[in-house]
Formats: sequence, structure tokens, C-alpha cells
Amino acid sequence: MTKNTWNRRHFLAASAGMLAMPAIIRTARAANNDYDVAVLGAGLSGLNAARHLEAAGYRVVILEARHQVGGRVRSEDTLNGIQELGGQSLTSGYASMVSTAEELGLSFFSPGAGDPVLSRRGTAIHVSGKTAADRDAWSSHPANMFVGDNKTQFPWERLRNFIAAENPLQVAQDWQKPRYANQDVSLAQLLSAQGFSDAEIKLIADTNPTYGDGAHEISALMHFYNAAWIKRLIELMANGRSGSFQIVGGNQMLPKAMANALNCDIRLGFEAKRISNTAGGIIVSNPNGETVTAKSAICSLPLKALANVTIDAPISKTQRTAIKNIPYSRVHQVFFEIQKPFWEHDGLPNTFWTDTIAGRLFMSAGADGKPAYLKTWATGRQAAVLDQMPDKEAMDLLLGTIETIRPATKGVLKPRYLWSWQQEAYSGGTYAAWGPGQITGLGPSIAAPADRLFFAGEHTAKLDRGMEGAMESGERAAYEVIDRLDG
Ligand SMILES: Cc1cc2nc3c(=O)[nH]c(=O)nc-3n(C[C@H](O)[C@H](O)[C@H](O)COP(=O)(O)OP(=O)(O)OC[C@H]3O[C@@H](n4cnc5c(N)ncnc54)[C@H](O)[C@@H]3O)c2cc1C
Repeated sequence: MTKNTWNRRHFLAASAGMLAMPAIIRTARAANNDYDVAVLGAGLSGLNAARHLEAAGYRVVILEARHQVGGRVRSEDTLNGIQELGGQSLTSGYASMVSTAEELGLSFFSPGAGDPVLSRRGTAIHVSGKTAADRDAWSSHPANMFVGDNKTQFPWERLRNFIAAENPLQVAQDWQKPRYANQDVSLAQLLSAQGFSDAEIKLIADTNPTYGDGAHEISALMHFYNAAWIKRLIELMANGRSGSFQIVGGNQMLPKAMANALNCDIRLGFEAKRISNTAGGIIVSNPNGETVTAKSAICSLPLKALANVTIDAPISKTQRTAIKNIPYSRVHQVFFEIQKPFWEHDGLPNTFWTDTIAGRLFMSAGADGKPAYLKTWATGRQAAVLDQMPDKEAMDLLLGTIETIRPATKGVLKPRYLWSWQQEAYSGGTYAAWGPGQITGLGPSIAAPADRLFFAGEHTAKLDRGMEGAMESGERAAYEVIDRLDG
């Protein structure tokens, strides 16, 4: 394989080759740290890199700080049913994830599909202290500041439809091309230039942002990239399988199965604190002074975690700036156990979009497939405020907020579980949220190899996003290393 030739065609060919192999080439466990490649991080990207490297016959070691694999794919099994805390769902357009899961004997399901309450469609909206139960009610809601036909659009649809209509990207992978640099401005700047008022921008882009903290902090180009990717996923959706789905047993079954299928050493609880590129190889040290040496390394750590690692390698100033400065989105979640079917009393939908500290409200299924939890999902500045509070205080505040929004929940919800990705040192947030100018300024250097050190991870993906982007990045990095080791 020649350098820099990785693309989707290569991915398909490589995957087919891997499937056709009679057996994965078994490598003897390396003695004396005699590894070809150290993979830092056992999330989907690191595991996929290891899979490809091992299949090609390299001696690999995976170094993972946590005591479990999966990273931001985490399925909580101490609650009723399996509750996804990170990567929530995939579609049939997730070619690499779906084929890997199928190859490893995993299957898929659509949570709540068989339950009449959970499968009920529709979202209520609660803004400026008043609830609208459906689209009609929202059209005449006093806080609906849209004009004419736009009044029938919910705030998140108003943003989504605007981005879809204005999107200059034909395909998602063009997002880093210099010709789109003029779109690498803040979302607020773009919306304002198109005639949106400050109040509209606050409602559609500062309230419950999926990316970043708000309209001023996120690049409009990031929204265009994401929209182009989703458009392609919709086009790719195979007939017959529902729009989005999860893995039976929890999405974390995939990284677990990938790890189980590997023959290489996986060192859990090994926190990389220093990565040193030397003439003889890469040396990775942990805080206890233990070291692992390999000819090359792939670093798949999220940028927020990587910022805590000393890198003695010839990485560029721009790349160091990227590691330090690219923000991550936030999600703060609390699971409230449902003790009585409150929806029978108010008839409102399962899902709420609110401008309160609680953000959005969702219901999730327990082990019996019936509603078990009402879950708050706060993002952006709302999540930042909750993160400052002790857990008990945050949960009490959220419970009071839900009871105000939806009085039928009074006395029938019990706070059970809080999870905040930005409070997790090994994640530092949910996913990269490129700020204005960063895609153009920092994007091209984000995954640039530095001699023996290579980079993977969701933030380095070029074609896909989320879990599929992580898979793609691991594969790309694996072939970059193979090119280097093969000379
Ligand atoms: C709330 C939430 C919802 C999401 N929803 C979706 C969705 O619906 N669909 C979708 O496609 N994607 C979704 N994603 C994104 C998806 O989960 C991630 O993009 C993907 O899992 C990232 O994989 P990764 O391998 O790049 O990084 P990670 O999974 O973060 O893996 C990196 C690994 O490095 C380890 N590590 C960190 N620091 C060190 C260190 N110093 N030494 C050693 N190891 C270290 C970490 O513990 C981790 O295991 C969501 C993410 C979140 C958080």
C-alpha cells in the first residue's frame, strides 16, 4: 500500500480481505516490550486500528487508562435494562461498524419498538414557562417568534432546515477543502447575516445545542459537514432495517467483542502520561514510571485527554494548538426511575425539548422493554452549569424542574444515576466541536503523523462522524503505520 492512499474503496477491499483470511495471523505475545505498534486507547478507533494491524501480522499492544474497553461507547448495566451513556445509535449506513458487529456475531434491535408508549412519536416543547404539546400548539405559542410558514417549524427544525437549504458541501468529506473556508465562521455570524434576529439565534442554536456551547462558539462549517454526512446516511439506509438501532446487549458489546477477538496484549489501567519518540522507537510511560516500547504508536485519545499527556515528538505547533484548544461538546444526563405511568394522567409525549436547565427529556426502556427511566439530557451552557454543582444538588434541581414542566411526574420519579462526559478525565466531553476558523486553521494538522507517532480518534475522521468516524480513523491510522513499518 502506498502512502496516503487510504480511502473508502481501500476500506472495503481491506475489510473483504480480512473476512476472507482463513484465520487471523496469531502473534506470540511480545517479550520485553518488543512490540511493533502500541495503540493508545481502547475505544472503537484504537480497537479497530489494532484489529487491522493484527490481521496484517503486526505485534500490537493496547494501552487503556480505564479498566474497561469502549471509551465513549458505554452501556450501563447496573440500571434496569441496559442504558447507553455514550454512542447511542447507528444506522445501516455505518458500513464498518455494522460489518464488524455482524462478523463478531452481534445483532441489532430498535429499543422500545414493541412498546406503545416508547414508540409514540412526537415531541412537546416547553419554552418561556409554557408547554406546547404538539406542532399546532407550538405554531401559536407566545414564544414562537418565527414568521409565516416558519411558525410550524420547531426550533431545532428551523436550524436543521436552514443548514440543509444553505449547505454548500456536496459530500461530507469535502469539509476541510480550502474552498469552503469562507463558511468556517461562527454559526451566529452565518445566521445573523441571513437575517435571523438575536432572539431567534438564541432559541434555535443556543438552546440545547448538539455541537459546542452555542451559536457563537461553533463553526457553521461543522454544521454543514454534519448535515452532509446525515444526508448521505439517509440515502444509504438499507430497506427493511429501521432508521437507527442499537446492538443487542448494549453498544459496548462491540468494543468488548473486538477486544475479545484480538490476540494482542491489552493493558487495562495503563494511563499514558508521556509519549516519547526516540530513534529506537516510541516509549509510552504511565504515572508509575512503567514503560512500554514499540516501533510505532497510534494515539487515539480524545484531545481533552491528550492535553494531559506530555508528547516528546516532532508534532507541529499547530497540532499542539489543536490539542489544547479544540473544544468538546457537553452532555449531562440524569436517569430518573419511573415509579408510576404519569403519561396516563397528562397524555403528553415522551420527549420534551425545553429551554430549562434540564435541556431535553427522553424516556428509555428497562429490561422488559417498557418505560423505565425519564432521562434529562442537558447540553451546552446548561450542562456547564450542572457540572459545577454537587451531584445531589444537580439531581434535586432537575427533579424540581421536571415536576414544574410536567406536573404529572410529581412524586413518581426517583433520581437514580448521573453521568457527565465532561467530568470524565479520559474523555473530557462528548465529541470535538470545532470553533470558528478551527476547521481551516487546525483541521489539516489534527492527524498529521510525527515520525513514529500516528493519530486516530473520532476527531481525526475525514469521511464519517461519531462511532463510524472512530472506526474509519482507526483503520486509516493502521494503514499509515503499516506503510511506515513496511518502509
Ligand atoms: C453522549 C454521547 C452520545 C453519542 N451519540 C452517538 C451516536 O448516537 N452515534 C454515533 O455514531 N456516535 C455517537 N457518539 C460519539 C461516539 O461515541 C464517539 O465518536 C466514539 O465512540 C469515539 O471513539 P474513539 O475511539 O475516537 O474515542 P474513545 O471512545 O473516547 O476512546 C479513547 C480511549 O482512550 C482512553 N484514554 C484516554 N486517555 C488515556 C490515557 N492517558 N492513556 C490511555 N488511555 C486513555 C479512553 O479511556 C478511551 O477508552 C456519542 C458520544 C457521546 C459521548
